[in-house]
This record gives sequence, structure tokens and C-alpha cells, in this order.
Amino acid sequence: MARYTEAACRLCRREGQKLFLKGDRCHTNKCALDRRGYAPGQHGQARNKKASEYGKQLRTKQVARRYYGVLEGQFRHYFEMAEKMPGVTGENLLRLLESRLDNVVYRLGFASSRTQARLMVTQGHFTVNGRKVNIPSYLLRLGDTVAMKESSRAKDGLKAILEANAARPVPKWLTVDREAVSGQVASVAAREDISLDIEETLIVELYSR
Ligand code: SF4
Repeated sequence: MARYTEAACRLCRREGQKLFLKGDRCHTNKCALDRRGYAPGQHGQARNKKASEYGKQLRTKQVARRYYGVLEGQFRHYFEMAEKMPGVTGENLLRLLESRLDNVVYRLGFASSRTQARLMVTQGHFTVNGRKVNIPSYLLRLGDTVAMKESSRAKDGLKAILEANAARPVPKWLTVDREAVSGQVASVAAREDISLDIEETLIVELYSR
């Protein structure tokens, strides 16, 4: 399972962008990036060097990788898959990342963050098309249905998570049934429906060097 040992907020501060790694806290005035919008470390406030082209490409890749909580090798693997797919490689890459089970659980509002979604999937709380799947990186396809297991829905801790996230908007490419705690991949995600604010072509340029 992908796991970071560095404090989550340091990653946002390093990238100068909100990566939404801490659930509800990210939307409050406790957000570390809002309070200290400079890079971590002794010289964080002094850093204003103009980034090279390579630097921009590298940082863009790191933002995407950290946003989805994917390790380097796995990210590279997604890129290679994206290259082989018809269409625009950068957009294909983002679509693949979006179609991970942990991301879909988060996007459907069944978890407060991708990290929490990953844990809930690993703990076996979800099914895909009626079969238990506990692999966070499982890639969902068009028409697949994700549901929380009935026995899990009865747990107080999980009920509280569902309630806390019920009002979060769900992207257009997913449909959700809050009663049944299930959702479906209803269409292929358009780029404008993926809320990650990056220039994904920079990642393609980086890996094409
Ligand atoms: Fe990033 Fe969330 Fe921490 Fe803000 S609170 S710095 S968005 S992880």
C-alpha cells in the first residue's frame, strides 16, 4: 500500500498547492498552507528561485503523484498504460488515476480523504459489482458499481464518516445513491471534471526526456 512517512501538510507546502491530504481540516482555517504558505525547512521562506523547465515538469509530476497518494514506480506504470491508450496521454493518465478504487470512494463522499479511503478499502468495507475488493489501486471501468458492505454500513465510525461527507459534490462522471451507500462509474471523466489543477502535459514532457 502506498504510504508517506513525511507529514502530509509539508507536502502541500513543498508543492505550494493544496493536495487535500487531511480531509476536513483542508477546508478550514487550520490548513497549514493557508497559515504558512511557504516551503518547509530552514530556508523555505527565502526560496524564490525561478524554476527551470525540468524543475516545473518534476514538480507537476510530484503534485499529481502526491495528490493521488501513488508511489513513483506505480505512477510510472500508469504513465506507460496511458501512452498505450488512444487519445491524449496526459488526460489518459489523469483518468487512470481517477479510476482507482480509493479515489472513487473518496470522490463519492464515502471517505474524508484519499488516505482514509485507502484504509477503508484495505479493511474490506467495499464491494465492486457485488464482490469484495480490498485493493486501493483497483481500476474501475465504465459501468462498475462500488458499494459499502451492509455490515460496514452499520458501524458507528463509518456512519459518522458518511454523514460528514454527504454534502460534498460528486463529479459528473459518477452517480451516487446515498441510501444504499453505492455509486457507479456513469461515464468517462472529461478533463474539466477532474479537479486537479495542473498542466499534465508537463508530466508527459518529463517522461519523454
Ligand atoms: Fe494540505 Fe490539507 Fe494540510 Fe492544508 S490541511 S496543507 S490542504 S494536507
